[in-house]
Amino acid sequence: MSDVVDLRSDTLTRPTAAMRAAMADAEVGDDVYGEDPTVRELEERVADLFGHEAALFTPTGSMANVLAVRTVAGVGEEVLCDARAHIARAELGAHAAYTGITMRTWSHPLGGVDLPAIKELFAPDMGPFFVPTAAIAVENTHNFAGGTVVPIEDLQALRAYADSVDVRIHLDGARIWNAHVATGVPLRDYGQVADVLAVCLSKGLGAPVGSLVVGNAAAIEESRVWRKRMGGGMRQVGILAAAGIHALDHHVERLAEDHDNARLLAEALGVDPATVHTNIVVVDREDAAAFVAAAGESGVRISAVGPTAVRLVTHLDVSRQDAERAALVLTRL
Ligand SMILES: *Cc1c(COP(=O)(O)O)cnc(C)c1O
Repeated sequence: MSDVVDLRSDTLTRPTAAMRAAMADAEVGDDVYGEDPTVRELEERVADLFGHEAALFTPTGSMANVLAVRTVAGVGEEVLCDARAHIARAELGAHAAYTGITMRTWSHPLGGVDLPAIKELFAPDMGPFFVPTAAIAVENTHNFAGGTVVPIEDLQALRAYADSVDVRIHLDGARIWNAHVATGVPLRDYGQVADVLAVCLSKGLGAPVGSLVVGNAAAIEESRVWRKRMGGGMRQVGILAAAGIHALDHHVERLAEDHDNARLLAEALGVDPATVHTNIVVVDREDAAAFVAAAGESGVRISAVGPTAVRLVTHLDVSRQDAERAALVLTRL
């Protein structure tokens, strides 16, 4: 048990001793030359997990999303997504700034698929005044909706629709591992509903750095060129890929503990546990900023995600005892 319980984000995890040992022992080479065996192993393994041909290691999830989305939509084309999607809200306009893509949005209360709204937005060819729709993007689990799982049936229905109108699907799977563990749906099934995915190793899986783009061989070859163009070509980066491989071996199934801890916190704070699908708890508080400050003074770090909303995220560095202590401190407040 550490002094401070930090529930601000699952990006805060520090590499474990075993992960650091794996990093220290990693075989490396120059990955821009395609000669880092550990990066290749990670890329092949993740591609296979999702049933796709290839994958590409990137420094961040945001870069993975930019690279992935540009394989399904070009300059002057649009992507449809939920209004609270990470790609629309939290990537500083990267998709517009680097690859010339605009977005139009639907609003789903849980960040999921609203097929009737998507059908209404969809406009691939409305003549010379209108932005052509090139792709649809979904996020699973959905970060700003509170770690919600998008049901596989909804994703499969979207896939069927997308195929019927010949449009591509991008899946922002920064926390796809949490969705997989919470539902038991195989990663391959999530892979099948998307033409291209972005997945993160640096969230709940506990790696210090790293994400991947996953897709067909041509998409990944293009993404390799664009990654370099954006300044993301990395050299002896097997040292980081080794952390990712270690995370895949040891930190996927344990996400269930984070989900249990999130439910514990929800129950203690009077949040309906049914709304807590994975490792994120959102609490309504009139005095969000003051509550966050008071919690911090009592050794529990949490964040305000709106004037009346507070967010708690469980992760690898929050033990059961930490969660119990945080629940005690927060209920007292
Ligand atoms: C964290 C996150 C990303 C990528 O974030 P980086 O900080 O750039 O690694 C992308 N999508 C979602 C949904 C996320 O939560």
